[in-house]
Amino acid sequence: MKAMLLTRVGRLEDAPLELADLPAPVPTAGELLIKVSACGVCHTELDEIEGRTPPPHLPVVPGHQVVGTVAALGTTDLGHDPESQKGDSPRRSKRRNPVQSPRFRPCPAVPRFRIGDRVGVAWIFSACGECEYCRSGQENLCHDFKATGRDANGGYAEYMTVPEGFAHSIPEVFTDAEAAPLLCAGAVGYRSLRLAGWGLGHNPNSAAELGHVPRSTLGLTGFGASGHLVLKTVWHQYPKTRVYVFARSKDEQVFARELGATWAGDTNNEPPEQLDAIIDTTPVWGPVVAALANLKPGGRLVINAIRKEEIDKQGLLGLDYAKHLWMEKEIKSVANVTRQDVTEFLELAARIPIKPEVQEYALEDANQALLDLKERRIRGAKVLRID
Ligand SMILES: [Zn+2]
Ligand SMILES: [Zn+2]
Repeated sequence: MKAMLLTRVGRLEDAPLELADLPAPVPTAGELLIKVSACGVCHTELDEIEGRTPPPHLPVVPGHQVVGTVAALGTTDLGHDPESQKGDSPRRSKRRNPVQSPRFRPCPAVPRFRIGDRVGVAWIFSACGECEYCRSGQENLCHDFKATGRDANGGYAEYMTVPEGFAHSIPEVFTDAEAAPLLCAGAVGYRSLRLAGWGLGHNPNSAAELGHVPRSTLGLTGFGASGHLVLKTVWHQYPKTRVYVFARSKDEQVFARELGATWAGDTNNEPPEQLDAIIDTTPVWGPVVAALANLKPGGRLVINAIRKEEIDKQGLLGLDYAKHLWMEKEIKSVANVTRQDVTEFLELAARIPIKPEVQEYALEDANQALLDLKERRIRGAKVLRID
């Protein structure tokens, strides 16, 4: 099968992903083989590929916003043909270990999916299912959390396998390319919004997540794919919420107003009112300090970023306790997503409906798609088409 393989981390300008011809993976018991038709391109992949958050093992096939159809169901435990494993990298056999464990094996008599069903795979590839986090609905925090396209081969390929319990049905209203960006930017944006206090009427736990303070003003600092989807979601579900967008680029500020933002300004501009919660999706510290100053008493800053740069960390010394932290202000980060986040967001997005603007690329052009994302060349989510 064709795949765009990461064999070494390096700058996107040097096209680090290589077109490779790999043996198609063979699903074991409890796994699905997916024929991939679309895979979204994400900022997190820029960090992986360029080495800021490198994958634990190389080579790896990136891609964690995968849409395709079920091509086969794994039926045998270890009975796959050893011939077909020739040329398999050590990674593959390694990542099979978790799914060989009995806890991942659904009852074979009741498979969730059939051959030909359309499915999606998100950032969550697997979690242990047994730890305190997994048992309390926080599998995103599992010590054994495995990410698609980082800890296991992902969707920049014609085929991939996934534990059946970690595949998602895709609502009919979406095309494959439209559904792909919802699986990461959408789902993690949804989780951020929930942690910020917008319960979205779905999750019984969420009402308690931010006390009983009424929420009416939301800030978004940084305005990428996740920010767009959050803004659209709030605008449809909570039309009375006033949304304030902080973005460096004038184009992004204009786009935010077009999408319904109450106000849009630069990261350091002071908004016309103080805010109940702010979601930060930037990789730097300046917006964190600015956001804390813009929170109301009792307000919460939700940091939706997998890493922060060292470059402006000195700015944290400008933190003033009275101005930035006192009056019960809170800071909470967002890590990964749960399957419930993905399922709930897909249902919500289908109902509204939210359809992301997408720009399609051929699989072979993955380096270009990532470079365009890095250089912010084209507005809208980038999706690889795999024919
Ligand atoms: Zn992502
Ligand atoms: Zn766990």
